[in-house]
Amino acid sequence: MSRPERDGAYYDAIKRRFAEERDLRLAYRPQGTQQFTSELDGQLARYARDPYGGEVAPRAPIRDTVEVLFIGGGFSALLTSARLREKGVESIRIVERGADVGGTWYWNRYPGVACDVVSYDYLPLLDEMGYVPTRHYAGGAEILDHCRAIARRYDLYRLAVFQTTVTSTTWLEGERLWELRTDRGDVMRARFVVCANGTLSKPKLSKIAGMETFRGHSFHTSRWDYDYTGEKLEKLRDKVVGIIGTGATAVQAVPELAANAKQLFVFQRTPSSIDVREDWATDPKWAASLERGWQAKRRAKALEEPMLTIGRGPAPANETREQRVARQERANIDYMMRIHRRIEELVEDPATAEALKPWYMFMCKRPCFHNDYLPAFNRPNVKLVDTRGQGITEIDERGPVFSGTSYALDLLIYATGFEVQKTGIWNQIAGRGGLELETKYADGIRTLLGIHTRGFPNLFIMGGYQASFQFNLTDMLQTQGDHIAACIDYVRKHGYVTLDPTEQAEEWWVQQVIANRGKTNRNHDCTPGYYNFEGESNRRQDGNYNGGFRRYWLHQGEVRGRMAESFELGR
Ligand code: NDP
Repeated sequence: MSRPERDGAYYDAIKRRFAEERDLRLAYRPQGTQQFTSELDGQLARYARDPYGGEVAPRAPIRDTVEVLFIGGGFSALLTSARLREKGVESIRIVERGADVGGTWYWNRYPGVACDVVSYDYLPLLDEMGYVPTRHYAGGAEILDHCRAIARRYDLYRLAVFQTTVTSTTWLEGERLWELRTDRGDVMRARFVVCANGTLSKPKLSKIAGMETFRGHSFHTSRWDYDYTGEKLEKLRDKVVGIIGTGATAVQAVPELAANAKQLFVFQRTPSSIDVREDWATDPKWAASLERGWQAKRRAKALEEPMLTIGRGPAPANETREQRVARQERANIDYMMRIHRRIEELVEDPATAEALKPWYMFMCKRPCFHNDYLPAFNRPNVKLVDTRGQGITEIDERGPVFSGTSYALDLLIYATGFEVQKTGIWNQIAGRGGLELETKYADGIRTLLGIHTRGFPNLFIMGGYQASFQFNLTDMLQTQGDHIAACIDYVRKHGYVTLDPTEQAEEWWVQQVIANRGKTNRNHDCTPGYYNFEGESNRRQDGNYNGGFRRYWLHQGEVRGRMAESFELGR
């Protein structure tokens, strides 16, 4: 078969289609991020309830003081705590809404859950734990076990408080301590507080007219109801199931549902790009051959290489910036067209195959990797309901309604994602002079490295905006954890009590973020999704630092190299 001529017109035509598909979606949803709600209370409260933790164990309110307190018990808290322990910090408390550590991996237990970042890079502290993951891509259960093992190894369960949500975090200037109140009546104090609440932790639902009238069973993917489905989905054999959403979560859950449900309807608004997932069991010989520090070496390598990009390779001599951008763009389009061909090869029904093709630039949405998702649509019990960008806008007592058809379901699963990167979810943070963090950010986010923010001494933010964004999030979190542990160590060793970024240092970083975010039109050109605030225009400073991971990490070192200029250090 001859390849189509790939000249400028070929690429321009595809870019026009990308733009049409984006505009179609923007027209359907001018409300941007407001199309979702993550305020899951009242009738929606059941979508936030923890199905894994069991009864909330009664306990007396806590009133004490610790040295370092983490809000959230996922990887951010675990890997930073490990570094703090190495530096001799003994008094460490994790306060966590779930009933155990694990964060993302505590909440996301949907069938098929796994991490599609290579496990040897994704799981933190493998050197320290002397652990080699069992597969190239680890499953959710193994990752959750690893989280628990870290908590045991670093003695983090001793002071940990679970099934507890921090509701306010207030700086006490007199005592130079943070005071945290919780939904369990606790009043805890801490010298240092780390907001380790994750980047995607609060489940969100699309606001769909009539959703509360649905008579069947329903839940969000991060609150999987195994009582209803059965541990191996065996209770779905006689059930008609629907799933709304086709992001990374649905891509992993759909093959399992397809194999077990009597009938499955997949309600699609925008398809994901699905590439091959090259998974294998870890070779024990390879694992045994690994030398001490093997993971640290891999992490160091990640700092040298750009994140997930394609079409790299040697640049032609004398290439201008414009030529480089155009070359990358064509490589991205070629990648997406390869994804299209893969769909044609794997999906038998041509109309379904056509509907599953993503029409946007590579990395506009999170790329997915799965071998069973596309073939699932060849099963007679699976039907793709393609809403052609519109989405499900109505649900009646029987199920979702689209184009005049009401789909009668026993079970409706919302795979509609999470609120993004908000510091202090559920939690009102007030710094010096009672200034609330949200008020400070109202005119634009202001931080140093995305980690420190002036007026909030001894408070550290992990995984928030103005930090680098990495496909392998734990690479980024590890640099933040190392940095935070080093800052706390510095304060303790030098007889200081507080550390607060200077106005100058903060302004420098805000300008760094602005300068680097200005380099790309990417957000604007992309189809809406959580990567680009659902197409809302936003201030340049209210996003990630786009100057590259290595530079982000080098800047962390620079900041620590000039502590006196970077911070006001109080005794
Ligand atoms: P996403 O936000 O990525 O996806 C939500 C999905 O719901 C989208 O397909 C969206 O469509 C769709 N949607 C929303 N409202 C409607 C509606 N009214 N009708 C129809 N469809 C609707 O959430 P996920 O939980 O899938 O993934 C979140 C993130 O979690 C991932 O991007 C990834 O970072 C992480 N993750 C990582 C995994 C890993 O392997 N490492 C596995 C799973 C998740 P549209 O695209 O049009 O907005």
